[in-house]
Amino acid sequence: MEGIYFCETQVYKLMKKFTDFDLIEPLQQSLKKVGYETPTPIQQQAIPLVLEGHDLLGIAQTGTGKTAAFCLPILNYLHLKNIRREPKHPRALILTPTRELAIQIHDNLTKYGFFLPQKFAVIFGGVSQGKQVQSLRHGTDVLVATPGRLLDLINQKHLRLGKVEVFVLDEADRMLDMGFLNDIKKVLALLPRKRHNLFFSATMPTAIKKLATSILVNPKKIEVTPPATTVELIHQMVMYVNKKEKPNLLVHLLKDKSFKRTLVFVGMKHIANRLAEKLEKNNISSKTIHGNKSQAARQKAIQEFAAGRARVLVATDIASRGIDIDGITHVINYDLSNVAESYVHRIGRTARAGSEGAAVSFVTADEKSYLANIERATKQKIEVITDHPYHSVEAENASVVSVGKAKAKIDEAQGRKTKSRRFHRGPKRPAKAPSASRSY
Ligand code: AMP
Repeated sequence: MEGIYFCETQVYKLMKKFTDFDLIEPLQQSLKKVGYETPTPIQQQAIPLVLEGHDLLGIAQTGTGKTAAFCLPILNYLHLKNIRREPKHPRALILTPTRELAIQIHDNLTKYGFFLPQKFAVIFGGVSQGKQVQSLRHGTDVLVATPGRLLDLINQKHLRLGKVEVFVLDEADRMLDMGFLNDIKKVLALLPRKRHNLFFSATMPTAIKKLATSILVNPKKIEVTPPATTVELIHQMVMYVNKKEKPNLLVHLLKDKSFKRTLVFVGMKHIANRLAEKLEKNNISSKTIHGNKSQAARQKAIQEFAAGRARVLVATDIASRGIDIDGITHVINYDLSNVAESYVHRIGRTARAGSEGAAVSFVTADEKSYLANIERATKQKIEVITDHPYHSVEAENASVVSVGKAKAKIDEAQGRKTKSRRFHRGPKRPAKAPSASRSY
């Protein structure tokens, strides 16, 4: 029986296979090559709409298959239109917040476009621009870019957006979190007024709705939540611990060999570095990724982890956004996020493709309100594990203060610590402009 999906006021018959879509043969061939048979829910809904030329507002996270949902119809369109490639003038622009996502999208484009003559380029900051400029000079049909490098290369006249026909804004909410709103506005001002717009965001706060309204024309809206089964397959646990014992609890857990491939989320980059040292001292192979690492170093760390040469990857939220690594057995929230959606996003890195996984969250007295927030938002009570050597009764019995107060308390504590370290290490460096990405 065919499934029925409700999307706005329309009812879509669900396509069961990719071969049911009106996609050109070279794309069907590449889908066979990559082994995709059944479209994911977002692909089922988005592909026909985008092929029909509708603007799209997609509420979906990474992991739902949204990349193919927009890449396949774009490639289909560009190939059928068969326009001659021109140096420096891409026909489709995919704007995405992080280098990792940009690389991932470009890799996917290359896979899906394997049997097509179209060319794809990716540009992002943190690496020298030489090769990127060269690829633009040779001509590219689809350009994947992060905002900073995009504007930089436009300013240097290596690139023009005047012939862009399809514009994709990916992970819009994360873009705004990272302070890219002004850059997005600058990019929009450089795009032709008449264009096909695809807008994706995992969440829809007011600022994102406003941005979407300013970009999209009569959009079709589709919403896909990560399959509930994913979260159901994750064994979620909480361990109460005092802040200073967190490193010891982490080492204690990682001594258990069932933690084969573990992703550890930390709140700040200096914590990631300190933990890596601690793990090394305990003969636990690990890699770190955070905003201060060069692109090459981040990619190398991810590769080492994905290939199983490091058991542990310690990451900040922003650096890890969109990373798609199979076989993660455990996610550890070393520092709990105060945003429930981040929690769901983080733990969703394990238990992919129907396999089981576990997520352990370390909770201090100060973080207890974050936990309450997460439990309220996800409508579940997370199992508390007290059977470990660092269990903190104080944290367990701490009263829940409001999230705002708890955050202020943590910020204050961290601020004090930073000042005293600076005092011992020498003069304070000049203050930098605040930036969301720097604080991770
Ligand atoms: P995304 O949300 O686009 O990052 O996709 C998440 C993962 O799902 C990627 O590893 C894709 O290669 C994979 N994927 C996307 N669509 C399909 C599909 N229809 N069948 C199997 N795997 C898929």
